[in-house]
Amino acid sequence: MAINGACFCGEVTYKIDGKLRDARSCHCSMCRKAFSSQASSYALLEPNEFSWLTGENLLTSFNSKNGAGLQFCSKCGSTLCGTYKGSIHGVTLGCVEGDPQVELGMHIFVGSKASWETIPEGVPQYEEWPPKNA
Ligand SMILES: [Zn+2]
Ligand SMILES: [Zn+2]
Repeated sequence: MAINGACFCGEVTYKIDGKLRDARSCHCSMCRKAFSSQASSYALLEPNEFSWLTGENLLTSFNSKNGAGLQFCSKCGSTLCGTYKGSIHGVTLGCVEGDPQVELGMHIFVGSKASWETIPEGVPQYEEWPPKNA
């Protein structure tokens, strides 16, 4: 079963013929800005399992100096996916339709979370990056 996603206005849609993995929420100050939210909600995928269905021409990219980037709908502003050195790397969970069969498995950079956020209990939290074996 494919996983489908769409932006807020619905013009940009995609499908993933595979599974999402390593869903995480990052609470650092950069992710708060990039995702316009209290944290990112993001999961990784296999690049060859991802394809745009509609609206790829509406995507605008933002690339940071370290090679990580984001792609968002130029019409409604939804951030749809993350890239690394130009290749798809993961998707934002907020734009996934339905149940993608993955849950946020960790909250990272909680040491720099917003003062106005309370992190939910019951999911591992890390001050910064998780330990390598997490
Ligand atoms: Zn849109
Ligand atoms: Zn972050």
